[in-house]
Amino acid sequence: MRISLSGMPFWLSFFRRIPRPPGRKAYVVGGWVRDMVMLRRPTRPEIDLAVEGDAVQWGESIAESFGVQVGRVSEFRTCKIDVLHDGVPVRIDIAPCRTDSYPVPGGMPVVTASSIHEDLYRRDFSVNAMAFPLDDPFQGSFLLMDPVGGCEDLARKELRILSPASFDDDPVRIFRLFRFQERLGFHPDLQTSRALESARLNGAFLRSSKSRLWDEIQAAIREESRCPIIFRWLLEKPWENFLPSLKMSSPRRRRVFAWDRLTTYESVFSPMGRFWKETLLLLALFYGIPRQECDRGLRLLGVPEKRAKIVRESLFPVSFGKRREKTSQPDILLNISPQMIFLNLVRGGAESLASFEKTVAEADHHPLRETSLTGRDLIKEGIDSSPEIGNLLREIRTLREQGILNSRREELDWVRARVRSRGKNP
Ligand code: ATP
Repeated sequence: MRISLSGMPFWLSFFRRIPRPPGRKAYVVGGWVRDMVMLRRPTRPEIDLAVEGDAVQWGESIAESFGVQVGRVSEFRTCKIDVLHDGVPVRIDIAPCRTDSYPVPGGMPVVTASSIHEDLYRRDFSVNAMAFPLDDPFQGSFLLMDPVGGCEDLARKELRILSPASFDDDPVRIFRLFRFQERLGFHPDLQTSRALESARLNGAFLRSSKSRLWDEIQAAIREESRCPIIFRWLLEKPWENFLPSLKMSSPRRRRVFAWDRLTTYESVFSPMGRFWKETLLLLALFYGIPRQECDRGLRLLGVPEKRAKIVRESLFPVSFGKRREKTSQPDILLNISPQMIFLNLVRGGAESLASFEKTVAEADHHPLRETSLTGRDLIKEGIDSSPEIGNLLREIRTLREQGILNSRREELDWVRARVRSRGKNP
């Protein structure tokens, strides 16, 4: 199958700008390929590249052609580069083609350099194991490499692991499964469901790398369908024997919805936006579970200590014998830290949440305003060329100032209508 980039000037010029590694074969891999095969467009400005050779050396020449520096280099000699192409930020991840084996399930893999073919077989799911070879010079289209049958699984809407021990080897894949299930609306095939059940029963999750697990939780929070993903963690219960109280109950469900709604008000949680989003999710999940389980849960999920401390201190406050004053909601909004706002709101239930939203809506000058769309959101909407993104963002800002658009929802509807009408009148 050949996939053309015609009609995608942004990506055409992007690939023309990527220098090819001399004498080495290089590929586009991962989610970018999956989305191009499935939707004929990428869904995020992130791209994974693989090379049969030294990834850091290639990374340096790519970074140079964009006038930036290579970012963090990992112990497996992978690297990241954040570049600006036509004014749009793009994250490039570069890795050497490799196979891996897991002498200790859930432990660090032993990695060996390999061809792209073997590299694709070590990946998490078949739909993520396809590649586009990077021709030199770039012809404007890609020929799909699909040795494991990812394309057929895309058509069947199935997530399929590539070896029966996949979840035992790397249990973080369990959480990736939940994330892709929700994002793509796919289901695990029979072999994958069985492997999931067996990994759950044998406690594979306990052996997963804590820092990678935490990375995966952060990735889930960045997803549009983050609530359903979190509900799936609770429903599929990979931790059931270890955190019996962490069940999918209606109050927990309500709290996670409340978290979802409230954290769209970015400025409530600034200046540490992401920090608070993550911390408040932990509060929503762990609220009401016994202290011991809370401690165990924080450790199992690899929660960094600064967040873990806030969660412990908020859920199990040390009492100094003083009677707490009952504070009315507007005071809470203005004076108390984000975790206290949140805890008070979730304790108060639906009414309290509704009145919070009303207060925010009425207080025009209040800092608790929903944030506007960003360039990233517009790219997700399929808008390709960068000058247009800048123009649309400027127009949105003006319409916001004029009070014509008042929420992200309204901004999105406006952008979609705009794109549709342009389609009719080119
Ligand atoms: P997204 O659209 O979220 O960027 P992605 O599939 O590109 O999705 P990444 O986390 O960027 O996700 O990973 C890039 C690729 O690396 C994946 O598509 C997959 O092939 C491989 N990969 C990532 N994590 C794992 C893992 N734990 N085990 C095996 N392969 C993985």
